[in-house]
Amino acid sequence: MASPKVFRSAFSERGNWYKGNIHSHTTVSDGNLRPEESAAAYKSRGYDFLALTEHNVFTSYDGKFGSDFVTLDSFEYNFVMDEGDRREFHLNVFPTGDRASFGHMQAFEPRQMKGGDYRVVQAAIDEFASRGCLVMLNHPSWSMNELEDVLPLSGLFAMELYNHSSSFLENMGGSIALWDALLRRGKRLWGTATDDNHNLHSLRSPYSDSFGGWICVKAERLDAASILSSLAEGSFYSSTGPEIFRFEIEGDRASFECSPVDRIHLSADGRQYQTAASKAGKGELRAFSARLAGDEKYVRMECVDSWGRRAYTNPIFLG
Ligand SMILES: [Zn+2]
Ligand SMILES: [Zn+2]
Repeated sequence: MASPKVFRSAFSERGNWYKGNIHSHTTVSDGNLRPEESAAAYKSRGYDFLALTEHNVFTSYDGKFGSDFVTLDSFEYNFVMDEGDRREFHLNVFPTGDRASFGHMQAFEPRQMKGGDYRVVQAAIDEFASRGCLVMLNHPSWSMNELEDVLPLSGLFAMELYNHSSSFLENMGGSIALWDALLRRGKRLWGTATDDNHNLHSLRSPYSDSFGGWICVKAERLDAASILSSLAEGSFYSSTGPEIFRFEIEGDRASFECSPVDRIHLSADGRQYQTAASKAGKGELRAFSARLAGDEKYVRMECVDSWGRRAYTNPIFLG
């Protein structure tokens, strides 16, 4: 007798798509735009939500930038490293309920990571998580976080797989290989694309670090609680260009739909995974249905458009 087909989707069944950037800086920390200027710029580009993640300063704007534009309460927590330790550890912290009870403009003292002991980072993750916060590891590539730095950490809900500012301005923003290495070792954390923009160059400059990496969240409503709940569940995809509409696994087939692209890849925890390709520059692909081997621990999909811009699903865990 054939076994029943199991259906899994990467995205919530109900809801709408909302586009947002969950990592940015303003004049409250080391950015060049004022919070209201940054919110207005994102709003004018069709974004639905924004997190103003200032260095060690919590902000909560609560509907200040219009009823149709959501700001997520948040901050970026940094550590002080020993002299000569070139690494950094930066965490984005998003309270999900009222347990955190941080106040607008509340400052946090950065902890010293003495002797490079990862337990200092773990203690901070544990403290924020115990107060109901989602904690994300930021730009591990730029931070020079190697696999051994990240593998011992637990309690992270996500890591940045693409950080636009460090990718665009320093070519150190991509962390896909690290993400896959963690997933292969059984870590379950979502991948995000963000801007981490500081706007040291104007929005019209070729060096502008805004609007290059974002997430699209499928959430029931456009409010902070729904967006955070979808973030926690992984009901979102990351993009530097293409749109993703569907990623599902039914039985032994994975199906994927997106805006026109040149290539679609299916990746898993082994080799010999599959690719659909159209002629480079043609952007003729909109869907891919691939057969799974059956022993995958996780499967994720990624597409590349004619300009080399990519979009990434979160993994569906099978093992
Ligand atoms: Zn950072
Ligand atoms: Zn940052």
